[in-house]
Amino acid sequence: MNDLIIRNAQVVAENTITRAEIAVNDGLITGIGPSISGVARVDLDVLGSFVFPGFIDSHVHFNEPGREHWEGLSTGSTALAAGGGTCFFDMPLNSDPPVLDAESFQRKRKLAEEKSLLDFALWGGLCPGHTDAIDEMAEAGAVGFKAFLCPSGLEEFPASDAATLREGMTRAKRWQLPVAVHAESPEVLARVAKNIPDTSMRSFLDSRPKESEVAAIRMACEIAGETGAALHVVHVTCSEGLAEIDQARKAGVNVSAETCPHYLLFNAEDAVRIGARAKCAPPLREKDDVEALWKDLLAGRIDTIGSDHSPAPPEMKSGEDFFAIWGGIAGCQHAFPSFLGELRRRAPRQFFQAAAWLAANPAARFGFGTRKGRIAVGFDADLTLVDFHSAVPIRGSGLLTHHAMSLYENHRSGCHVIDVIRRGKLIVQRGEVAKNTARGVFLRPSHE
Ligand SMILES: [Zn+2]
Repeated sequence: MNDLIIRNAQVVAENTITRAEIAVNDGLITGIGPSISGVARVDLDVLGSFVFPGFIDSHVHFNEPGREHWEGLSTGSTALAAGGGTCFFDMPLNSDPPVLDAESFQRKRKLAEEKSLLDFALWGGLCPGHTDAIDEMAEAGAVGFKAFLCPSGLEEFPASDAATLREGMTRAKRWQLPVAVHAESPEVLARVAKNIPDTSMRSFLDSRPKESEVAAIRMACEIAGETGAALHVVHVTCSEGLAEIDQARKAGVNVSAETCPHYLLFNAEDAVRIGARAKCAPPLREKDDVEALWKDLLAGRIDTIGSDHSPAPPEMKSGEDFFAIWGGIAGCQHAFPSFLGELRRRAPRQFFQAAAWLAANPAARFGFGTRKGRIAVGFDADLTLVDFHSAVPIRGSGLLTHHAMSLYENHRSGCHVIDVIRRGKLIVQRGEVAKNTARGVFLRPSHE
Protein backbone atom coordinates (compact mmCIF):
# COMPACT_ATOMS: atom_id res chain seq x y z
CA MET A 1 0.00 0.00 0.00
CA ASN A 2 1.52 3.33 -1.13
CA ASP A 3 0.69 6.70 0.37
CA LEU A 4 0.19 8.27 -3.04
CA ILE A 5 0.41 7.29 -6.69
CA ILE A 6 0.32 9.92 -9.43
CA ARG A 7 -0.84 8.50 -12.75
CA ASN A 8 -0.67 9.84 -16.31
CA ALA A 9 1.93 12.42 -15.32
CA GLN A 10 4.01 14.32 -17.84
CA VAL A 11 7.10 14.54 -15.67
CA VAL A 12 9.23 17.60 -16.35
CA ALA A 13 12.99 17.34 -15.86
CA GLU A 14 15.59 19.89 -16.89
CA ASN A 15 16.07 18.34 -20.33
CA THR A 16 13.06 16.17 -21.00
CA ILE A 17 9.41 15.47 -20.47
CA THR A 18 8.47 11.84 -19.86
CA ARG A 19 5.10 10.20 -19.34
CA ALA A 20 5.31 8.28 -16.08
CA GLU A 21 3.72 7.27 -12.81
CA ILE A 22 5.15 8.39 -9.49
CA ALA A 23 4.89 6.59 -6.14
CA VAL A 24 5.23 8.51 -2.88
CA ASN A 25 5.74 7.08 0.61
CA ASP A 26 6.62 8.76 3.91
CA GLY A 27 7.12 12.08 2.13
CA LEU A 28 9.65 10.73 -0.36
CA ILE A 29 9.50 9.72 -4.00
CA THR A 30 9.86 5.93 -3.94
CA GLY A 31 9.18 4.98 -7.53
CA ILE A 32 9.02 6.46 -11.03
CA GLY A 33 8.20 4.37 -14.06
CA PRO A 34 5.83 3.70 -16.92
CA SER A 35 3.53 1.88 -14.52
CA ILE A 36 3.58 1.58 -10.73
CA SER A 37 1.98 -1.57 -9.42
CA GLY A 38 0.00 -1.79 -6.20
CA VAL A 39 -2.58 0.48 -4.66
CA ALA A 40 -2.45 3.78 -2.81
CA ARG A 41 -4.34 5.66 -0.15
CA VAL A 42 -4.53 8.55 -2.61
CA ASP A 43 -4.63 7.76 -6.31
CA LEU A 44 -4.25 10.88 -8.41
CA ASP A 45 -4.92 10.79 -12.13
CA VAL A 46 -3.39 13.96 -13.54
CA LEU A 47 -4.01 13.46 -17.25
CA GLY A 48 -3.33 16.75 -19.04
CA SER A 49 -1.09 18.24 -16.34
CA PHE A 50 2.66 18.69 -16.28
CA VAL A 51 4.43 17.65 -13.08
CA PHE A 52 7.34 19.93 -12.15
CA PRO A 53 9.66 19.53 -9.19
CA GLY A 54 8.16 21.82 -6.51
CA PHE A 55 9.17 25.43 -7.06
CA ILE A 56 11.84 26.72 -4.69
CA ASP A 57 11.57 30.46 -4.16
CA SER A 58 15.01 31.47 -2.96
CA HIS A 59 14.01 35.13 -2.56
CA VAL A 60 11.02 36.24 -0.47
CA HIS A 61 10.36 38.85 2.20
CA PHE A 62 7.67 37.57 4.56
CA ASN A 63 8.63 40.28 7.07
CA GLU A 64 7.94 38.40 10.31
CA PRO A 65 8.60 39.15 13.13
CA GLY A 66 7.93 42.84 13.39
CA ARG A 67 6.26 43.69 10.10
CA GLU A 68 3.55 41.09 9.86
CA HIS A 69 1.21 43.95 8.99
CA TRP A 70 3.10 44.06 5.64
CA GLU A 71 3.01 40.29 5.07
CA GLY A 72 3.34 37.24 7.29
CA LEU A 73 4.80 33.75 7.26
CA SER A 74 1.36 32.14 7.19
CA THR A 75 -0.24 34.28 4.48
CA GLY A 76 2.96 34.55 2.47
CA SER A 77 3.65 30.82 2.43
CA THR A 78 -0.01 30.05 1.64
CA ALA A 79 0.00 32.43 -1.34
CA LEU A 80 3.29 31.00 -2.57
CA ALA A 81 1.90 27.45 -2.28
CA ALA A 82 -1.08 28.44 -4.42
CA GLY A 83 1.48 29.65 -6.96
CA GLY A 84 3.30 26.33 -7.03
CA GLY A 85 5.94 26.92 -4.34
CA THR A 86 6.94 24.08 -2.04
CA CYS A 87 9.74 25.85 -0.20
CA PHE A 88 11.18 29.33 0.23
CA PHE A 89 14.24 31.11 1.58
CA ASP A 90 13.27 34.18 3.58
CA MET A 91 15.44 37.28 3.36
CA PRO A 92 16.88 38.82 6.56
CA LEU A 93 14.92 42.03 5.99
CA ASN A 94 12.20 43.45 6.23
CA SER A 95 11.56 41.58 9.46
CA ASP A 96 12.10 43.74 12.52
CA PRO A 97 14.62 43.09 13.93
CA PRO A 98 16.36 41.99 10.73
CA VAL A 99 18.28 38.71 10.97
CA LEU A 100 21.76 39.89 11.92
CA ASP A 101 22.69 37.39 14.65
CA ALA A 102 21.83 33.90 15.92
CA GLU A 103 19.17 35.16 18.30
CA SER A 104 17.11 36.90 15.61
CA PHE A 105 17.69 33.89 13.36
CA GLN A 106 16.30 31.45 15.93
CA ARG A 107 13.36 33.71 16.65
CA LYS A 108 12.37 33.76 12.98
CA ARG A 109 12.96 30.02 12.67
CA LYS A 110 10.60 29.31 15.57
CA LEU A 111 7.88 31.55 14.11
CA ALA A 112 8.20 29.93 10.69
CA GLU A 113 8.01 26.44 12.22
CA GLU A 114 4.71 27.47 13.83
CA LYS A 115 3.25 29.29 10.84
CA SER A 116 4.74 28.31 7.51
CA LEU A 117 2.82 25.97 5.22
CA LEU A 118 6.02 25.39 3.26
CA ASP A 119 9.50 24.14 4.04
CA PHE A 120 11.88 27.02 4.51
CA ALA A 121 15.46 28.15 4.87
CA LEU A 122 16.59 31.51 6.21
CA TRP A 123 19.08 34.06 4.92
CA GLY A 124 21.26 35.90 7.40
CA GLY A 125 22.10 39.57 6.92
CA LEU A 126 25.48 41.04 6.04
CA CYS A 127 25.75 44.64 7.28
CA PRO A 128 28.55 46.91 8.50
CA GLY A 129 29.30 46.20 12.18
CA HIS A 130 27.68 42.75 12.07
CA THR A 131 30.18 40.64 10.13
CA ASP A 132 31.31 38.89 13.35
CA ALA A 133 27.86 37.33 13.63
CA ILE A 134 28.20 35.50 10.32
CA ASP A 135 29.76 32.54 12.09
CA GLU A 136 26.93 32.13 14.60
CA MET A 137 24.30 32.48 11.87
CA ALA A 138 26.13 29.90 9.75
CA GLU A 139 26.18 27.57 12.72
CA ALA A 140 22.44 28.16 13.22
CA GLY A 141 21.86 26.98 9.63
CA ALA A 142 21.73 30.13 7.46
CA VAL A 143 21.39 29.41 3.75
CA GLY A 144 23.71 32.33 2.96
CA PHE A 145 24.12 36.05 3.66
CA LYS A 146 22.42 38.96 1.97
CA ALA A 147 24.04 42.36 1.51
CA PHE A 148 22.83 45.59 -0.04
CA LEU A 149 25.40 47.59 -1.95
CA CYS A 150 23.09 50.65 -1.95
CA PRO A 151 20.70 51.84 0.79
CA SER A 152 18.02 49.20 1.43
CA GLY A 153 15.33 51.68 2.43
CA LEU A 154 15.52 50.52 6.06
CA GLU A 155 17.84 52.20 8.56
CA GLU A 156 18.34 48.97 10.49
CA PHE A 157 19.77 47.27 7.39
CA PRO A 158 22.52 49.60 6.10
CA ALA A 159 24.46 49.18 2.86
CA SER A 160 27.73 47.26 2.76
CA ASP A 161 30.82 49.03 1.47
CA ALA A 162 33.68 47.11 -0.18
CA ALA A 163 35.43 46.44 3.15
CA THR A 164 32.28 45.00 4.73
CA LEU A 165 31.58 42.86 1.68
CA ARG A 166 35.18 41.59 1.70
CA GLU A 167 35.00 40.70 5.41
CA GLY A 168 31.58 39.05 5.00
CA MET A 169 32.66 37.04 1.98
CA THR A 170 35.84 35.89 3.70
CA ARG A 171 33.79 34.52 6.59
CA ALA A 172 31.02 33.07 4.41
CA LYS A 173 33.62 31.26 2.31
CA ARG A 174 34.87 29.38 5.39
CA TRP A 175 31.37 27.94 5.76
CA GLN A 176 31.01 27.36 1.99
CA LEU A 177 27.95 29.61 2.10
CA PRO A 178 27.04 32.10 -0.63
CA VAL A 179 26.73 35.85 -0.29
CA ALA A 180 23.78 37.36 -2.14
CA VAL A 181 23.95 40.98 -3.21
CA HIS A 182 21.44 43.62 -4.19
CA ALA A 183 23.61 45.22 -6.83
CA GLU A 184 23.12 48.93 -7.45
CA SER A 185 26.04 51.34 -7.05
CA PRO A 186 25.41 54.12 -4.50
CA GLU A 187 27.96 56.33 -6.29
CA VAL A 188 26.16 56.07 -9.63
CA LEU A 189 22.76 56.54 -7.99
CA ALA A 190 23.97 59.69 -6.18
CA ARG A 191 25.42 61.14 -9.38
CA VAL A 192 22.27 60.49 -11.42
CA ALA A 193 20.01 61.86 -8.67
CA LYS A 194 21.31 65.40 -9.29
CA ASN A 195 19.63 65.54 -12.70
CA ILE A 196 16.22 64.16 -11.83
CA PRO A 197 13.53 66.80 -12.53
CA ASP A 198 10.50 65.54 -10.59
CA THR A 199 9.02 62.67 -8.57
CA SER A 200 7.12 60.90 -11.36
CA MET A 201 7.43 57.18 -12.08
CA ARG A 202 9.34 58.05 -15.26
CA SER A 203 11.90 59.99 -13.22
CA PHE A 204 12.16 57.17 -10.68
CA LEU A 205 12.93 54.72 -13.50
CA ASP A 206 15.58 57.11 -14.88
CA SER A 207 17.11 57.53 -11.43
CA ARG A 208 18.23 53.88 -11.28
CA PRO A 209 19.97 53.22 -14.60
CA LYS A 210 21.46 49.96 -15.82
CA GLU A 211 24.98 51.38 -15.41
CA SER A 212 24.43 51.49 -11.65
CA GLU A 213 23.63 47.79 -11.67
CA VAL A 214 26.62 46.97 -13.86
CA ALA A 215 29.06 48.93 -11.66
CA ALA A 216 27.85 47.20 -8.48
CA ILE A 217 27.95 43.74 -10.08
CA ARG A 218 31.51 44.37 -11.21
CA MET A 219 32.58 45.39 -7.70
CA ALA A 220 30.90 42.35 -6.09
CA CYS A 221 32.46 39.99 -8.67
CA GLU A 222 35.90 41.44 -8.01
CA ILE A 223 35.61 40.85 -4.27
CA ALA A 224 34.18 37.36 -4.81
CA GLY A 225 37.18 36.65 -7.03
CA GLU A 226 39.60 37.94 -4.38
CA THR A 227 38.04 36.03 -1.50
CA GLY A 228 36.98 32.89 -3.38
CA ALA A 229 33.48 33.19 -1.93
CA ALA A 230 30.33 32.10 -3.77
CA LEU A 231 28.43 35.17 -4.99
CA HIS A 232 24.75 35.19 -5.94
CA VAL A 233 23.56 38.35 -7.66
CA VAL A 234 19.85 38.73 -6.96
CA HIS A 235 17.34 40.29 -9.36
CA VAL A 236 19.58 41.00 -12.34
CA THR A 237 17.45 43.04 -14.74
CA CYS A 238 19.61 43.55 -17.81
CA SER A 239 21.81 41.90 -20.36
CA GLU A 240 24.68 44.26 -19.49
CA GLY A 241 24.64 43.01 -15.89
CA LEU A 242 24.62 39.38 -17.06
CA ALA A 243 27.57 40.09 -19.38
CA GLU A 244 29.54 41.28 -16.34
CA ILE A 245 28.64 38.05 -14.51
CA ASP A 246 29.54 35.95 -17.55
CA GLN A 247 32.93 37.57 -17.78
CA ALA A 248 33.63 36.99 -14.08
CA ARG A 249 32.51 33.38 -14.39
CA LYS A 250 34.90 32.86 -17.28
CA ALA A 251 37.67 34.28 -15.10
CA GLY A 252 36.91 31.61 -12.50
CA VAL A 253 34.68 33.56 -10.09
CA ASN A 254 32.05 31.44 -8.36
CA VAL A 255 29.00 33.53 -9.26
CA SER A 256 25.36 32.82 -10.05
CA ALA A 257 22.59 35.07 -11.32
CA GLU A 258 18.93 35.41 -10.38
CA THR A 259 16.21 37.30 -12.14
CA CYS A 260 12.54 37.70 -11.23
CA PRO A 261 9.39 37.10 -13.29
CA HIS A 262 8.47 40.80 -13.12
CA TYR A 263 11.60 41.79 -15.06
CA LEU A 264 10.57 39.35 -17.81
CA LEU A 265 6.83 40.10 -17.88
CA PHE A 266 6.61 43.88 -17.37
CA ASN A 267 8.53 46.86 -18.77
CA ALA A 268 9.01 50.57 -18.09
CA GLU A 269 5.86 51.50 -20.01
CA ASP A 270 3.90 49.10 -17.83
CA ALA A 271 5.45 50.72 -14.75
CA VAL A 272 4.23 54.16 -15.85
CA ARG A 273 0.76 52.77 -16.64
CA ILE A 274 0.39 50.64 -13.48
CA GLY A 275 2.08 53.01 -11.03
CA ALA A 276 2.90 52.23 -7.40
CA ARG A 277 2.28 48.46 -7.60
CA ALA A 278 5.05 48.29 -10.21
CA LYS A 279 7.67 50.17 -8.20
CA CYS A 280 10.74 48.13 -7.35
CA ALA A 281 14.52 48.46 -7.31
CA PRO A 282 16.24 47.90 -9.61
CA PRO A 283 13.26 49.20 -11.59
CA LEU A 284 11.40 47.60 -14.48
CA ARG A 285 13.44 48.16 -17.64
CA GLU A 286 12.68 49.26 -21.21
CA LYS A 287 11.04 46.94 -23.75
CA ASP A 288 14.32 46.19 -25.54
CA ASP A 289 15.96 45.28 -22.22
CA VAL A 290 13.17 42.84 -21.46
CA GLU A 291 13.60 41.19 -24.85
CA ALA A 292 17.34 40.93 -24.28
CA LEU A 293 16.76 39.40 -20.83
CA TRP A 294 14.57 36.69 -22.38
CA LYS A 295 17.32 35.92 -24.88
CA ASP A 296 19.84 35.63 -22.06
CA LEU A 297 17.54 33.39 -20.07
CA LEU A 298 16.96 31.04 -22.98
CA ALA A 299 20.70 31.03 -23.71
CA GLY A 300 21.41 29.74 -20.19
CA ARG A 301 22.91 32.91 -18.65
CA ILE A 302 20.55 32.98 -15.67
CA ASP A 303 20.68 30.36 -12.91
CA THR A 304 17.63 30.92 -10.75
CA ILE A 305 14.31 32.74 -10.81
CA GLY A 306 12.99 34.09 -7.52
CA SER A 307 9.83 36.09 -6.87
CA ASP A 308 11.42 38.79 -4.66
CA HIS A 309 7.94 38.97 -3.12
CA SER A 310 8.17 42.11 -1.00
CA PRO A 311 4.79 43.63 -0.15
CA ALA A 312 3.94 46.63 2.00
CA PRO A 313 0.64 48.03 3.32
CA PRO A 314 -1.50 49.74 0.63
CA GLU A 315 -0.97 53.17 2.21
CA MET A 316 2.76 52.81 1.53
CA LYS A 317 2.03 51.78 -2.07
CA SER A 318 0.08 54.87 -3.09
CA GLY A 319 0.59 58.58 -3.77
CA GLU A 320 2.18 60.75 -6.42
CA ASP A 321 5.79 60.85 -5.20
CA PHE A 322 7.37 57.76 -6.71
CA PHE A 323 10.55 58.30 -4.74
CA ALA A 324 8.61 58.16 -1.44
CA ILE A 325 6.39 55.18 -2.33
CA TRP A 326 7.73 51.90 -0.94
CA GLY A 327 9.61 49.82 -3.49
CA GLY A 328 8.78 46.14 -3.64
CA ILE A 329 6.72 43.83 -5.81
CA ALA A 330 3.94 41.76 -4.29
CA GLY A 331 3.35 38.71 -6.44
CA CYS A 332 4.52 35.34 -5.11
CA GLN A 333 1.10 33.81 -5.85
CA HIS A 334 1.19 34.48 -9.58
CA ALA A 335 4.83 35.15 -10.48
CA PHE A 336 5.82 31.59 -11.38
CA PRO A 337 2.63 30.51 -13.23
CA SER A 338 2.66 33.80 -15.18
CA PHE A 339 6.31 33.27 -16.05
CA LEU A 340 5.66 29.67 -17.14
CA GLY A 341 2.75 30.68 -19.36
CA GLU A 342 4.85 33.31 -21.12
CA LEU A 343 7.85 30.97 -21.35
CA ARG A 344 5.78 28.31 -23.08
CA ARG A 345 4.36 30.89 -25.48
CA ARG A 346 7.83 32.19 -26.39
CA ALA A 347 9.79 28.94 -26.32
CA PRO A 348 7.43 25.96 -26.61
CA ARG A 349 10.34 23.58 -27.09
CA GLN A 350 12.29 24.90 -24.10
CA PHE A 351 9.72 25.38 -21.37
CA PHE A 352 10.84 22.29 -19.45
CA GLN A 353 14.01 24.24 -18.58
CA ALA A 354 11.91 26.00 -15.97
CA ALA A 355 12.48 22.86 -13.89
CA ALA A 356 16.10 24.00 -13.62
CA TRP A 357 15.48 27.72 -12.96
CA LEU A 358 12.67 27.16 -10.46
CA ALA A 359 13.85 24.01 -8.70
CA ALA A 360 17.02 22.09 -9.59
CA ASN A 361 19.34 25.11 -9.78
CA PRO A 362 18.31 26.84 -6.55
CA ALA A 363 18.43 23.47 -4.76
CA ALA A 364 21.94 22.73 -6.01
CA ARG A 365 23.29 26.25 -5.53
CA PHE A 366 22.05 26.60 -1.96
CA GLY A 367 22.91 23.20 -0.51
CA PHE A 368 19.77 21.10 -1.02
CA GLY A 369 20.81 19.29 -4.20
CA THR A 370 20.61 15.81 -2.73
CA ARG A 371 17.16 16.29 -1.27
CA LYS A 372 15.08 18.79 -3.22
CA GLY A 373 14.68 20.25 -6.70
CA ARG A 374 14.38 17.06 -8.74
CA ILE A 375 11.81 14.36 -9.37
CA ALA A 376 13.96 11.37 -8.48
CA VAL A 377 13.72 8.34 -6.20
CA GLY A 378 14.85 9.20 -2.67
CA PHE A 379 14.11 12.92 -3.06
CA ASP A 380 11.46 14.80 -1.07
CA ALA A 381 8.11 14.40 -2.80
CA ASP A 382 7.74 18.11 -3.61
CA LEU A 383 5.70 18.34 -6.80
CA THR A 384 3.90 21.14 -8.61
CA LEU A 385 1.22 20.20 -11.12
CA VAL A 386 0.32 22.78 -13.74
CA ASP A 387 -1.80 23.00 -16.81
CA PHE A 388 -1.49 25.40 -19.70
CA HIS A 389 -5.04 25.47 -20.96
CA SER A 390 -6.82 28.71 -20.24
CA ALA A 391 -5.70 32.28 -19.63
CA VAL A 392 -8.04 34.17 -17.33
CA PRO A 393 -7.26 37.56 -15.80
CA ILE A 394 -5.94 37.51 -12.23
CA ARG A 395 -8.31 39.22 -9.77
CA GLY A 396 -7.49 40.90 -6.46
CA SER A 397 -10.32 38.97 -4.78
CA GLY A 398 -8.40 35.72 -5.24
CA LEU A 399 -5.24 36.91 -3.49
CA LEU A 400 -4.15 34.97 -0.41
CA THR A 401 -1.47 37.45 0.68
CA HIS A 402 -1.97 39.67 3.75
CA HIS A 403 -2.96 42.59 1.51
CA ALA A 404 -5.06 42.08 -1.61
CA MET A 405 -2.54 43.93 -3.75
CA SER A 406 -0.35 42.47 -6.48
CA LEU A 407 1.50 43.58 -9.57
CA TYR A 408 -0.22 40.65 -11.32
CA GLU A 409 -3.80 41.91 -10.89
CA ASN A 410 -5.48 41.96 -14.32
CA HIS A 411 -2.51 40.14 -15.85
CA ARG A 412 -3.51 37.10 -17.90
CA SER A 413 -1.62 33.99 -16.92
CA GLY A 414 -1.45 31.19 -19.49
CA CYS A 415 -0.68 28.62 -16.84
CA HIS A 416 -2.48 27.41 -13.74
CA VAL A 417 -1.27 25.56 -10.68
CA ILE A 418 -3.65 22.64 -10.14
CA ASP A 419 -2.14 20.62 -7.30
CA VAL A 420 0.87 21.07 -5.05
CA ILE A 421 2.42 18.24 -3.06
CA ARG A 422 4.87 19.11 -0.27
CA ARG A 423 6.80 16.15 1.15
CA GLY A 424 3.98 13.84 0.05
CA LYS A 425 1.07 15.94 1.35
CA LEU A 426 -1.45 17.49 -1.02
CA ILE A 427 -1.33 21.09 0.19
CA VAL A 428 -3.10 22.51 -2.88
CA GLN A 429 -5.82 20.47 -4.53
CA ARG A 430 -7.66 21.57 -7.69
CA GLY A 431 -6.39 25.10 -7.04
CA GLU A 432 -7.60 25.25 -3.42
CA VAL A 433 -5.15 25.40 -0.50
CA ALA A 434 -5.89 22.57 1.94
CA LYS A 435 -6.84 23.51 5.50
CA ASN A 436 -5.16 22.17 8.65
CA THR A 437 -2.08 20.80 6.95
CA ALA A 438 1.08 20.03 8.93
CA ARG A 439 3.55 22.91 8.95
CA GLY A 440 6.71 23.08 6.88
CA VAL A 441 10.13 22.24 8.27
CA PHE A 442 13.33 24.20 8.64
CA LEU A 443 15.96 23.35 6.03
CA ARG A 444 19.63 23.45 6.84
CA PRO A 445 21.93 23.60 3.81
CA SER A 446 24.58 20.99 3.21
CA HIS A 447 27.47 21.63 0.82
CA GLU A 448 29.08 18.19 1.08
ZN1 LIG B 1 14.44 41.23 -2.20
